[in-house]
Amino acid sequence: MKNLIKRFLALALVACTCVALSSCAFLDGLLNPPNDDDGYSRPSSEIAFEVRNENVPVFSQEELTAEPYEYYSDLDSLGRCGVVKGTLGVETMPALDEKRGSISSVKPSGWVQAKYDTSIVQGGYLWNRSHLIGWQLSAENANKRNLITGTRYFNVEGMLPFENMVADHIREKGCHVAYKVTPDFKGENLVCHGVTMEAYCIECQGNLQFNVYCFNIQPGIEINYATGESRLAS
Ligand SMILES: [Zn+2]
Repeated sequence: MKNLIKRFLALALVACTCVALSSCAFLDGLLNPPNDDDGYSRPSSEIAFEVRNENVPVFSQEELTAEPYEYYSDLDSLGRCGVVKGTLGVETMPALDEKRGSISSVKPSGWVQAKYDTSIVQGGYLWNRSHLIGWQLSAENANKRNLITGTRYFNVEGMLPFENMVADHIREKGCHVAYKVTPDFKGENLVCHGVTMEAYCIECQGNLQFNVYCFNIQPGIEINYATGESRLAS
């Protein structure tokens, strides 16, 4: 019972934070519209994610299956990833003692690596090969249909907390979670502006669900989403 209450409070906290953050993002967007004149966008906000559709994910009846599966779109003509989805469970996750494989052979679209001072980018390198469905959920290593060019901030502050939430839930309860990640490539840009992450637990129904948009930004850095080039914000 105590655990249930703790979980509820944790989720309520996430929901409240989400609402608070999304209104900040809205204000920030008004005050600091992206500057696209020379192809570069300065971060329109410094928030990692915002809630979409009142946090309610959108899945078809077909996608709400308890039968584990994974689907990865083929790359498009520009070499970009598309929607990836699945029903995740212990069946799709790595064993607890399984080691992550190398993914450095994959060059996602827009991969123009850049190094900055570690006071600006944790670890120094701007770009991470970002899993659309995280390794801890899919055990997918060098799958080029599952890796995009994403900032360190996007990877760690945007996507990871939601991946952890789903992984913890599955490990604790043995549930199956419908899951979908949709990268948001504008026009012919090689780097996406963000991804939409949606999840819905089949067994618990609404007790674990979210619909969030994680921004592919790095505070202090301007990004050219067409090419993947970057520079210090002026
Ligand atoms: Zn569940």
